[in-house]
Amino acid sequence: MAGNWKMYKTPAETGSFFEKFRPLVAATQYCEIVICPPFTNIAAAVEAARGTRIQVGAQNLYWAKEGAFTGEVSGPMIRAAAAAYVIIGHSERRQYFGETDATVLKKIGAALEAGLTPIVCVGELLEHREAGQTDAVLSEQCCEGILRLDDREFAQVVIAYEPVWAIGTGKTATPEIAAAAHRTIRGEVRSRYGEDAAGQVRILYGGSVKPDNVRSLMAQTEIDGALVGGASLDPVSFASIVNFQS
Ligand code: PEP
Repeated sequence: MAGNWKMYKTPAETGSFFEKFRPLVAATQYCEIVICPPFTNIAAAVEAARGTRIQVGAQNLYWAKEGAFTGEVSGPMIRAAAAAYVIIGHSERRQYFGETDATVLKKIGAALEAGLTPIVCVGELLEHREAGQTDAVLSEQCCEGILRLDDREFAQVVIAYEPVWAIGTGKTATPEIAAAAHRTIRGEVRSRYGEDAAGQVRILYGGSVKPDNVRSLMAQTEIDGALVGGASLDPVSFASIVNFQS
């Protein structure tokens, strides 16, 4: 269960979030819990998560290790800040910051080299879905990005299916729509890496996941977890998503 805080919260607000969130998930055993704050809050989040099972991730990285790339942050820098995960290819990055499957692939390589677990996002636009192109778009994003990794690299990647029309809109994909898309992605993984890899890869669903819909989404066997934006900003709401089984 991963929270994407997008461009929200200061270090002080991060501390307050963790104070409330920590006890609410202290007994949670069944899943990994990841919070991805803005870069400026990674240190505060790591400090506040010390001694707990909560892990911290970044929301982006640049593929070079260091250099004259003003405004960018590298994999080794994120790892040195004690984050363990990084979101790559989020649709907001693809839409507003020109990310492509090719840059996503470079970023996955950089993340793996730095020892970070990439959470790689794919997902169709509303116009794709309405034109019946969802499967084609997902297959292309997978084939041009994640599926170019070798077997060993691929085994370290988490995929997030995030239909762009469901992100931040309050429109959740129905559990059936989400599961169908997950099957398409898993099918691509099966064709490229085989049955074992298809069974083992974790595919998260993201798009307006909330405490009141998480249970029905997670009831789909295809869905292994959730990438949560808006609802991860509130400790009580994110904790009830994490603890949806109880
Ligand atoms: C996200 O940012 O990855 C996301 C899924 O956002 P939201 O849950 O707000 O739709």
